[in-house]
Amino acid sequence: MYTFTLPSGIEAELKEMTGQEEELLTNQRLLRSGDAINLVIKNCLVRLGDETSVTAKHVEDLLSGDRLFLLVKLRQISLGDSVDLELQCTNAVCKNRNYLSIDLEGLETTSYTEEREFAFTLPASKQVVKFTHLDGNKEKRLAALKEPNISSAMMMRIVSVDGKSPSKKILADMSMRDRSALRMEMSRVDAGIDTTVECDCEQCGTKLKTRLEAEPAFLFPGVR
Ligand SMILES: [Zn+2]
Repeated sequence: MYTFTLPSGIEAELKEMTGQEEELLTNQRLLRSGDAINLVIKNCLVRLGDETSVTAKHVEDLLSGDRLFLLVKLRQISLGDSVDLELQCTNAVCKNRNYLSIDLEGLETTSYTEEREFAFTLPASKQVVKFTHLDGNKEKRLAALKEPNISSAMMMRIVSVDGKSPSKKILADMSMRDRSALRMEMSRVDAGIDTTVECDCEQCGTKLKTRLEAEPAFLFPGVR
C-alpha cells in the first residue's frame, strides 16, 4: 500500500490499478462523462483521511488538484514514474514526431491554503466576485456541457458577483480587463500538480504544449 499527502493536506492510501480499472478507462461512454476517472480513483483509494470505505461522493467532493494528484500517483505506482511521449508538431508543413520522456516524480506540486472561498474586487467595475476552487462535482458539470469554452470553468467557480448568482450574461458583459484579472486571481490561488508539458519541435522550433493526462502514454504506455 502507498500513502501520500494530497495538495489539500488530506492523507490518502492507494493500491495499484488492475485489469478492472483498465476496462473502465477504455470505456468511451464513462470516459466522456468523467465517470471513468472517478470510478478508478474510488476503486484504488483504500483510505481517504480517516475514511476507509470511500464512495463516489467522496471522490467527487475532492478538489481538482487533489484528484489529478491522485491520478498521477496511481499512474506511478501502477506503471512507473517515466512517461514516454510522442508529440506531433502542430505546424502543418512539419508534422515532425518529437519524442520526450517525463519523470512523474519531478512534477511540481503546490499545496492548497486553508481558504475555500475567495473574494476578489474587479479592477474596472469594482464588483466583488466570490469564488471557490474547482472540484469533482464542477468538473462533472463541465464535462456535461455541449460547448465548453474559456468562460465555462471560470463560471463554475463563481459563487456570486456583488451578492448575486452568476449568469452567462454577467460574464459576457464583464470587461476584458476584469475577466483577465479574475482569471489570473483564480489561477493564483489554485494548487495541485503541474502536468503541463512544453517543448520546441526539434525540426522547426514550433512551441508544442500538452497536458500529461491528455496523452495516451499517460495511462496506456505502449498503445499507439
Ligand atoms: Zn515542427
